Amino acid sequence: MCGIVGIYDKGNINAANGAYYGLVALQHRGQESAGIAINNDGIITCYKDMGYVNEVFDDKILSLLKGDMAIGHVRYSTSGASFAANAQPILIKFKNGNLAMAHNGNLVNAEALREQLEDQGMIFSTTTDSEVIAALIARNYKGDIVNAIQDTMDMVKGSYALVIMTVDKLIAVRDGYGLRPLVIGKLDDGYALASESCALDTLGAEFMRDVKPGEIIVIDKDGMKSIQSSITIPKKGCLFEYIYFARPDSIIDGISMYKARENAGKILASEQPAIADTVISVPDSGTPAAIGYANQSGIPYSVGLIKNRYVGRTFIQPTQSMRELGVKLKLNPLKGNIKGKRVVMVDDSIVRGTTSRKIVKALRDAGATEVHVRVASPPVIHSCHYGIDTPTTEELVGAINPLEKIRKYIGADSLGYLSLKGLLASVDSDGEGYCTACLNGEYPIPLDCRR
Ligand code: SF4
Repeated sequence: MCGIVGIYDKGNINAANGAYYGLVALQHRGQESAGIAINNDGIITCYKDMGYVNEVFDDKILSLLKGDMAIGHVRYSTSGASFAANAQPILIKFKNGNLAMAHNGNLVNAEALREQLEDQGMIFSTTTDSEVIAALIARNYKGDIVNAIQDTMDMVKGSYALVIMTVDKLIAVRDGYGLRPLVIGKLDDGYALASESCALDTLGAEFMRDVKPGEIIVIDKDGMKSIQSSITIPKKGCLFEYIYFARPDSIIDGISMYKARENAGKILASEQPAIADTVISVPDSGTPAAIGYANQSGIPYSVGLIKNRYVGRTFIQPTQSMRELGVKLKLNPLKGNIKGKRVVMVDDSIVRGTTSRKIVKALRDAGATEVHVRVASPPVIHSCHYGIDTPTTEELVGAINPLEKIRKYIGADSLGYLSLKGLLASVDSDGEGYCTACLNGEYPIPLDCRR
């Protein structure tokens, strides 16, 4: 889970500012590190560090990043540890050229490829799979960058949305399954690329379209060109982008995240009804589904939990004890809307179950007489290998426990999940077009190619 942006804005030497605002809009996709690479008349430089975008960059640093082409990255590590050397964009120099690259996704055969490259004498400076992609592009480069990218796409397996900047081109690449999102927008005198359309809105760029699965987009002084790679596999967009990860104001592959979540809530109300006085959400990602649930069920929606917006995600990551403390700091029940009420609490998903357990207890402490938990996705029962940081199977509460045991563990009066069929219906799918591996174990990319 990372966020990437690209800016091609001929004549505007402040492209780094555009990348900065794009990254701020994508901050929810990664909070560990942030970086921007800038192209000033063919000279590519990069500034990156650990932290939030507004911690890494200030006016002074941005004023030093002059150039009319830029790419940027915010990172949440899924491959390679969380330290500064693994921050992106990656800068790579090779015979006849150099480039910067930012990657969102995860390769399943990175280890095997890295070993092959090391056997051939390649030295890596990070532990990421992204550097493997950049190294392959460099090695495959024989004078035509698009050919080098196509050859690399034939070798790598896994999920990848890439923005690549050469001395004279900005390039976007999306893997053949379209697992990770990537969109193109039009600026007055150029183009913008971003993981999600919400970043284009922030930049004032007009949404053009999604990069298609397996497509390479090349932007240079001659305009924008599309090259479809030889990869022809069925599209498998990540369903979790729709459930949770993407911002609700984004549109991915033609589907509004808000609408998909609201639909999921409506279907959830039909599949898992409850008798209650009020429907509340676990903010923010559970809110559209809770509104959908309330509208469909006729039970009034109210705000039941107040989110402290100044508690960052990083605060609740590292250890279980810190995570549990983080929940208390992050969400506080609104007693006036809860006390004496039978509450339906709608959440987008349950992963470990520890957060739900804390919230249910907090609602009871606030005076709720009953707490009925409704989840706008099926149980997560398998780990993701394509770039989303799900825990190991042993840590997934849905993988190892029957429904009744989970209900007891989280302390709810009743518990109901949305069916996979219902979730697919919420994005207008009959089962085609989406990866559902973490929900049913059907991995679109075989995992036996990991080594
Ligand atoms: Fe998304 Fe789950 Fe597939 Fe990973 S396994 S890409 S989280 S749907």
